[in-house]
Formats: sequence, C-alpha cells, structure tokens
Amino acid sequence: MRFKTLAIHAGYDPSANHGAVVPPVVQSSTFAFKAAGEPRTFDYSRSGNPTRHTLETTFAALEGGVRGLAFATGMAAETTALMLFNPGDHLLVQADLYGGTWRLISSVFAAKGLTASFVDLRDEAALRAAITPATKGIWIESPTNPLMNLVDLRAVAQIAKEHSLLTICDNTFLSPYFQRPLDLGIDIVVHSTTKYINGHSDVVAGALMTADAALGDKLAYLQNALGTVSSPGDCALVLRGLRTLAIRMEEHNRNALAIAHWLEAHPKIAQVLHPGQSSHPQHQLALQQTTGFGGTFAFRLRGAREEAFRFLNAVRIFTLAESLGGVESLIEHPRTMTHLSIPPATLDQMGIGEDLIRISVGIEDVTDLIADLSHALDQI
Ligand SMILES: *Cc1c(COP(=O)(O)O)cnc(C)c1O
Repeated sequence: MRFKTLAIHAGYDPSANHGAVVPPVVQSSTFAFKAAGEPRTFDYSRSGNPTRHTLETTFAALEGGVRGLAFATGMAAETTALMLFNPGDHLLVQADLYGGTWRLISSVFAAKGLTASFVDLRDEAALRAAITPATKGIWIESPTNPLMNLVDLRAVAQIAKEHSLLTICDNTFLSPYFQRPLDLGIDIVVHSTTKYINGHSDVVAGALMTADAALGDKLAYLQNALGTVSSPGDCALVLRGLRTLAIRMEEHNRNALAIAHWLEAHPKIAQVLHPGQSSHPQHQLALQQTTGFGGTFAFRLRGAREEAFRFLNAVRIFTLAESLGGVESLIEHPRTMTHLSIPPATLDQMGIGEDLIRISVGIEDVTDLIADLSHALDQI
C-alpha cells in the first residue's frame, strides 16, 4: 500500500472491533487477564493500549520503519531517545535547531553527564573533526527551525556508520509525506506530532520511529519504564489528523511556495529562507532528499525589533503564536518567542536576529494570506 492508503488503513482492522470503521478510543487503564499467568495482548495502558497501538503501527508504516512509538509530547519523545545514552557519552548536535531541543541537551542532559558539541552539520569536515572517542550519536534537524538549513541526511548517516554512531533526525518540519530519513540511513526519526502530523493545533504529542527492530525494542522499553506515553484520547486525535496528512501537506507546500515567491520580490524583505526557492543555498539538496518543502519557513525584514513588532501586530489572518503545522496560519518572532530559551549571544551566532520572522502557512486561501502580509508590511 502507498502513503495515502496507509495513512487511512494501516494498523487497524474493523472486523476485530465490532466492525467500527473508526478505531475506538480505549480509555481503560487496565485489562483483565484471561486467567492467572495468562495476560491478554494488553495488560496496562502505560505498557500498551489498543488506540495507541493503532497509531504506533501507522507511524511505523508511514515513516517506512518497523516500529513506531507515541509520546505525550515531542519533548517526551526526545527525552526517551536521549535516555539511550549514558553519562560520559558525547553527542554531535546540529548547531541551529529547535530551542527546546537545545535546552534539553545543553541544560537538562548536560547536568546528567551527557556532553554535546553543537556543530554545523552542513560542514562535513567540521563534523568529522568533532568526533571524539566518547562520541556515540548525532542529533540532526533538517530543515532546521527556524533558519531552514538542510543537513545531507545520507552523507551524515554514512559518516555515522563509519564510526558506529547512532543518528537521530527530527523530521517535524516535513513529516514523512515529504521526507523519510529512515530510507536515507538514519536510525531514529523524531516528531513533534503536535505539528503537521496532528495538524489541527488541538493536541501536544510526539513520536519516534525506527527501521531496526532491536532498537525499537530498546525504545519501547524506555517508553514504558519512563512513562512518557501519549494518552488514548490524544492518540485518537492524532490518528484523525493523520488521515488527511497527505492532502494537507500538498496545500501547505503550495501556499508556502507562493508566499515565499511573493515575499522575495517585496522591497521590505531582505531575505527569504525557503529551500524551495532557487536562491536557497541548498535548493539542490532539497530536491534530492525531500519530495516537498512543507509549509513553514522564515524571512528577514529590512529593520530590527521595532519593525518586526509593528509588522507582527498588524497581521489579521495570521495569528501571532508559537507552534506550527496546523491548518491555520501562524506567525512568530523566534528571537523573543520559540527560541527565547537560548542565550542572546548564541542566538547571534546562529543568525536568529531581531529581523527574523517565521511563518507556518496554513491551508486558507493563499490570496487572503498574501493580502494580509501585504497590508502588515505596509505598516512598517
Ligand atoms: C515543537 C517542536 C518540538 C517539541 O515538540 P512538543 O510537542 O512541543 O514537545 C521538537 N522539535 C521541533 C522541530 C519542533 O518544532
């Protein structure tokens, strides 16, 4: 079965559920044993739950893996993956990435003895030079949030294999519809399913997928031991969202490309950071390793904080809010919102300045979206 069919049918058989066409939400925390010493498939909902199982099976199918796991949030998924490592281990981490991931690795896990070097993984020589005898893994985000830099996943996976390093790739921005890191040799895919996979901004959730059964078992063990699971109600919402992932992604992609193209010609815009534009330095890589560009990208205004804030306060259809990947368009200022947990000097090094705006383009009519941005740009 192909992607759009799997998104609707994988992991669920109506005949095993009274013919219910939609997977039931099984809220039960515990399940009756058949007899002493004879548990059924599920015994306790932290360890396994039928609704979560349907979602997890779908995750694996869509990402091209053998195991999918559903978590309470994207950060819960990340925490669980990072627990594969031990004190004294060293990680290479993409230098610009989601602020919460930066905080988790550089603060929470650093305090437990897991060391990390933040490296620009676009630079193969820098990546090779940063590997030490203690290095155990590489944490990748591509495209990066919010700068839209790409990492060559096949090349990094190859280097990692030469050094027996585990590769983890955050695939939140593109979803498996546009990018399948496991097919390129990556070991573990991470998602904040809060974003495109759920797609309706009404749940926080996360996922891990892997194509290695033994690694899948290790992650499932940690998921149960840590208790980082997603609730049955949230799993049902994410499942519903997944049904329309393909058509939503097509529309996000189309709208975002049209807006990026329009912005590039606007006199008040200094730079558009969108991998689908031929002006993007990694446009060719985008064409090779992804089948679309998604709906989120960034741009730089001519100006600084004052101009940025005036622009953000003038939009009417775009909502000034963190997060991304929902059907509605959102706009934000990474420096003072999503990436506020990163110190200003590091933000400067990363290139996340006062002039940078990130938008998550929804599936509204693109003519209305452009008119909204146009009106707001006229105010600065
Ligand atoms: C939002 C996000 C996360 C964190 O996910 P939560 O569901 O908010 O915990 C991780 N990575 C990326 C790229 C994100 O955008």
